[in-house]
Amino acid sequence: MIIEILRLGHRKERDKRVTTHCALVGRAFGARGMYYAGDPDDGLERSVEKVNGSWGGDFFIKHVSEWRRFIDEKKKQGWGIVHLTMYGIPLPEVQARIARLERSLVIIGAEKVPGEVYRAADFNVAIGNQPHSEVAALAIFLDRMLGSMEFNITFSNARIRVIPQERGKRVEALDL
Ligand code: SAM
Repeated sequence: MIIEILRLGHRKERDKRVTTHCALVGRAFGARGMYYAGDPDDGLERSVEKVNGSWGGDFFIKHVSEWRRFIDEKKKQGWGIVHLTMYGIPLPEVQARIARLERSLVIIGAEKVPGEVYRAADFNVAIGNQPHSEVAALAIFLDRMLGSMEFNITFSNARIRVIPQERGKRVEALDL
């Protein structure tokens, strides 16, 4: 299953840390890339590209200026639209149906998400019906759908990698 992310409502100053964390979680747990709507943010894009440069892979990050049209286009191309929201249906109840999608666009919000997103989504999915965080919701969703934490993804073109230790830190430089 191919998963891409759409982060709605990025505010350059206020959200830079959380949006970066959404991208890092997406990358580490198996999504192909993340689109974001809101303020264009070169710093955000550079920090994700810097992580790719050291730790490998080709996770993309791209700004979209017209997210409504973007979602429509994705639907026309056959992508399933999964919106993560505390108001949705708990993941275990819809997980099997979502797993049948070949490609899905996972939408996460920042502040209030417009009603049209709920209507456009094929699935409005709750990671529990309590308010928490887009970072946590995305991590759990990707882990349940892709199981990537168990597999501990390795990325091509990495310059460095962690050698897991019971104590302390060990990082190995890789020959490219
Ligand atoms: N009350 C807001 C709303 O409209 O959902 C909460 C905003 S929350 C700070 C930002 C994002 O985190 C939400 O848009 C949603 O994508 C995600 N989120 C928070 N809690 C969630 C939950 N229990 N299940 C799924 N997603 C959640």
